[in-house]
Amino acid sequence: MNNAQSVLKTVFGFDEFRPGQREVISAVLSGRNTLAVMPTGGGKSLCYQIPALLNPGVTIVVSPLISLMKDQVDALHQNGIEAAAINSTTPRDEVNPILRQAYEGKLKLIYVTPERLNMDYFRYQLNYLNINLVAVDEAHCISQWGHDFRPAYRQLRTAIAGLKSRPVTLALTATATPRVQQDIGQQLAIEPNDFIVTNFTRPNISFKVVQPQSDTKRYIAEYLKNHQDEAGIIYANTRKGVEALAEYLNDRGFNVEPYHAGMDNQTRARIQDDFQFDRIPVIVATNAFGMGIDKSNVRFVVHAASAQNMESYYQEAGRAGRDGLPSEAVMLFHAGDMQQYRRFIEMSEADEEYRDVQYQKLQAVIDYANTPRCLQQEIVEYFGQHCDPCGHCSNCLDQRKLIDVTRETKLIITAVNELHSRFGKGVIAQVVTGSQSERIRQLQADKLSSYNSLNNLSKQQAVSLIDYLCATGYLELRGSQYPVVGITKRGWNVLNGHENVQRRQEIKPDRKATQIE
Ligand code: ADP
Ligand code: ZN
Repeated sequence: MNNAQSVLKTVFGFDEFRPGQREVISAVLSGRNTLAVMPTGGGKSLCYQIPALLNPGVTIVVSPLISLMKDQVDALHQNGIEAAAINSTTPRDEVNPILRQAYEGKLKLIYVTPERLNMDYFRYQLNYLNINLVAVDEAHCISQWGHDFRPAYRQLRTAIAGLKSRPVTLALTATATPRVQQDIGQQLAIEPNDFIVTNFTRPNISFKVVQPQSDTKRYIAEYLKNHQDEAGIIYANTRKGVEALAEYLNDRGFNVEPYHAGMDNQTRARIQDDFQFDRIPVIVATNAFGMGIDKSNVRFVVHAASAQNMESYYQEAGRAGRDGLPSEAVMLFHAGDMQQYRRFIEMSEADEEYRDVQYQKLQAVIDYANTPRCLQQEIVEYFGQHCDPCGHCSNCLDQRKLIDVTRETKLIITAVNELHSRFGKGVIAQVVTGSQSERIRQLQADKLSSYNSLNNLSKQQAVSLIDYLCATGYLELRGSQYPVVGITKRGWNVLNGHENVQRRQEIKPDRKATQIE
């Protein structure tokens, strides 16, 4: 390990390892297959680059994205390390010279796509080389339980096992729930003892969830007004949304640039550069923005539309505050977006099992938006870890009074029970708020004792309360595409009078009372 430390200093110019790096490097050098789970920006690349330099032979890095590969190779060249990438854009007559250089010991790292490594002929060529290490980047792509499953990753195990020099495997990812970790371990023959999971908390980021009552655009303009001269990223979920928001903000005198995958490469590269070098403070972007960006002083990341899963959310939000200074990650949550995401999943061509996973991931976002607990805790626990309340997220700082909602909860649970747990939250909300819709009459739900029992709430407020009760574990959603609401053990406890429920949200004054005013 002394050698590793000196490579860190002499080649990369860093004095100290980041958390986890030393452990991963030493495990790999001692010949153990290893899984490294480290947050974005945690320094995963060095975990295989340093062993690559210390090993006698060659390291193969499997990476799913051609553009990221190129960035990595360029960065290595800048540090004076010979590396190359082989993917579908590599001219055929360049492949052999690259392999020859590696054979002659002039090249320590070769980046390849999983598709390439899966090709028999390519592996046949690789067998002339002494390959010591195969690093599988973005290893969560191997798992159906991940958020970015790629079928080509599934064949990696066979591909790696077929390499004559019997290399060590190092899997790396920024986002792996315990389930995904287990899957990666099984796929790539890594023992759970050799999972190295670093601390996922980001103590300098204040997480915030906002359920904007008014216009999102106006909220963001107001936000920018309060964050002048700070660098930030605002994520929207469609290209159109990006353009509309950027235009709105420009019209109001804010210096922002739009960024999405529909723009040409040159423009995109320019905008990235302008952001990187502080010429443009704020980018409004789709999730196409951010990969490969290494800017340390991003002070805020605002999601104008929430992400579709917590993995993406944490990755994107985590682009704030890499320099360790106080930063903010704000999610604007709209129930309507969730419905749209549901439809995306519904329309996708993926198989049923995969779609189920996506629905569950979406539910985790809804839970995050509705939980009364510390947001950092909620995230970290999603990834299978624990931490203390952060003390500065919007929930930790929530000053609103706790209100007892036991009565409302009982009435909702009664409705669920009377409907035999066979309906979704929309129907339940209609029942308790006394809707006179056709559907309710068809179901004869207006005959139930719970019908119209919460007529002081709007339907939207009732849905929000149901979301809250799901997020806090009194109710649960069953099934994925059209989930029905069910009652948990905790829910029965409330119904039986053994537990009270509190909520910070003020329930709006009586509808009828307001009308009288
Ligand atoms: P990841 O792949 O985990 O998102 P990277 O490997 O791209 O992260 O590293 C993020 C940044 O941190 C890079 O700029 C890298 O040079 C820097 N870095 C990595 N390790 C260290 C270290 N030990 N000390 C200081 N900076 C580091
Ligand atoms: Zn907190």
